[in-house]
Amino acid sequence: MRIIEFTERQKKIIEIVKENEPITSEQIANLLKVTRATLRPDLAVLTMTGMLDARPKVGYLYSGNKPINLISEEIHRIKVSDIKSMPIVVEEQTNLYDAIVTLFLEDVGTIFVTANNYLVGAVSRKDFLRTIMGGTDVNKVPVGLIMTRMPNIVMTYPDETALEAAIKIIDHQVDSLPVVEKTLVDGREFFKVVGKVSKTNMTRLFVELGKQ
Ligand code: ADP
Repeated sequence: MRIIEFTERQKKIIEIVKENEPITSEQIANLLKVTRATLRPDLAVLTMTGMLDARPKVGYLYSGNKPINLISEEIHRIKVSDIKSMPIVVEEQTNLYDAIVTLFLEDVGTIFVTANNYLVGAVSRKDFLRTIMGGTDVNKVPVGLIMTRMPNIVMTYPDETALEAAIKIIDHQVDSLPVVEKTLVDGREFFKVVGKVSKTNMTRLFVELGKQ
């Protein structure tokens, strides 16, 4: 996780600087009744994360309210469960014709495939196009035969951050991630699809943050 979690002392320092800026490290140390050396690592973290601005001969100023920091904080705070949408899922024996009809009816680019309600794969627009160009009879072949299958499916979890999910989408060059919950059956891991996060969800989040 990349969430910036400040320590209690760092939070106190932020409050002190907010109320007393500009303020020197010596003055902060006096208020907190610690030495300047003790504060040095905290001040380094706070300036590196953009919460404080260190000005030579002036002291520390609060800069955490900059719009860029607020957006960054939001992206770290917002969870996949906050932005996920309904997944479109078919069972693996569904034939390609029915799966393609589902793709159109549900207006999605990727369908997740399950067996006994657990995730086994994903099929995307290009998978269908590739198969049809190869002359496959769409009424005879099940999606299970052409899908990208587990364990190669890149997944996300409800409590991951939106940023972590976006990084997976970029790193693995896919349009959509299934949001899953892990369950153990006879000691084996299975995944229930409880949502999806796609490039569209990310764009929507981007627009919402921009409008705030
Ligand atoms: P398309 O290329 O059809 O626009 P994608 O870029 O999402 O859509 O899919 C590229 C390939 O990755 C396809 O072969 C698809 O089966 C596979 N794929 C789609 N989603 C995932 C995922 N979440 N994890 C792993 N593979 C995926």
